[in-house]
Amino acid sequence: MSCTTSSVPFSFELYPPRTEQSREALETTIQALAAAGPRFISVTYGAGGSVGGRSLEVLKYIRQHTAVEPLAHLTCVGNTYSGAATLIREFLDADIRSFLALRGDLPAGMTEADAFEGDLESAAQLVQLIDRVQAERAPYVETDLPGLPGAARVDPRQRVDIAVAAFPNGHPRSRFPREHIDALLAKQAAGATLAITQLFFHPEDYLGFVSRARDAGVTIPILPGIMPITSPQRLRRVLELTGEDIPGELTVGLEIEPTPEGQRELGVAYAAKLARAVVDGGAPGVHLYAFNNHDTVLAVLREAGILTSHKETAR
Ligand code: FAD
Repeated sequence: MSCTTSSVPFSFELYPPRTEQSREALETTIQALAAAGPRFISVTYGAGGSVGGRSLEVLKYIRQHTAVEPLAHLTCVGNTYSGAATLIREFLDADIRSFLALRGDLPAGMTEADAFEGDLESAAQLVQLIDRVQAERAPYVETDLPGLPGAARVDPRQRVDIAVAAFPNGHPRSRFPREHIDALLAKQAAGATLAITQLFFHPEDYLGFVSRARDAGVTIPILPGIMPITSPQRLRRVLELTGEDIPGELTVGLEIEPTPEGQRELGVAYAAKLARAVVDGGAPGVHLYAFNNHDTVLAVLREAGILTSHKETAR
């Protein structure tokens, strides 16, 4: 499988498979996504460790079977410093060097009180911990000097890349309107090198947020997270989970379109238009929520003119 891409960087998000059958399908999807040439493929992590092992398996697969950088989501809700440090070491041992540090959503059945039994309370603390664990493991890099037996050059360590979440329309649980921007500033101060946004439905949501974040002092790149919504059921579920406002045009389109194929086309066209608009507005790339399916996100990139040709030679 091979393809040609434009100069706009793109990346994908996947989640760990729940069954053996879906694991095999996911490997096919990873190969198809990797062939398109993304900057990285990220893999979600269940808060509370519910699917942590399976998440690492997918990341290892990406590391070992593709040339794409695997990026591990890690959550801190309900975790202790030592528990989280052990987990981070396990990921570093598997040669995972890029992370998305998150507070995490509470798993079903867990209350806020349970969550705060852990001593890590915010993504900013997790960012610092990832950096510290990596520093302890590799404080510096030694290179042997040719011709000088026993001598070595000592260079500063290569730092891990740590991304964090950002919320163009605010976090549903924010206590005051600017809280999510303050949280982003705290994560940047803790060492984050990239922000990836929650999904949004209008280009001005992202572009306005970036402008407010810049005014507040956020300097790290803010990558727009784009989710193709290809059915009314998925739209309802996503609105429920994220608390985003209903996108009128897309909602009406999906509700009146009778066929799944037609709904998919509408969802792809909407996401492609959104991707194009934010890139034209200055976004440093696009991050696509792939729902473990390659066809839809690749179609979005093609329709947005970001993936200029995608030629399938093997399957
Ligand atoms: P923080 O940076 O710690 O907080 C950000 C802001 O969120 C706070 O300032 C506050 O405004 C608000 N906030 C968060 N929680 C509370 C609370 N309990 N009470 C009051 N205010 C609160 N979740 C997963 O479990 N696994 C994943 O793999 C995952 N991947 C994600 C990927 C992306 C790109 C994004 C945008 C989100 C992802 N999430 C994931 C969801 C994320 O964990 C939740 O949105 C979480 O509530 C906030 O995480 P954070 O890292 O932004 O938190």
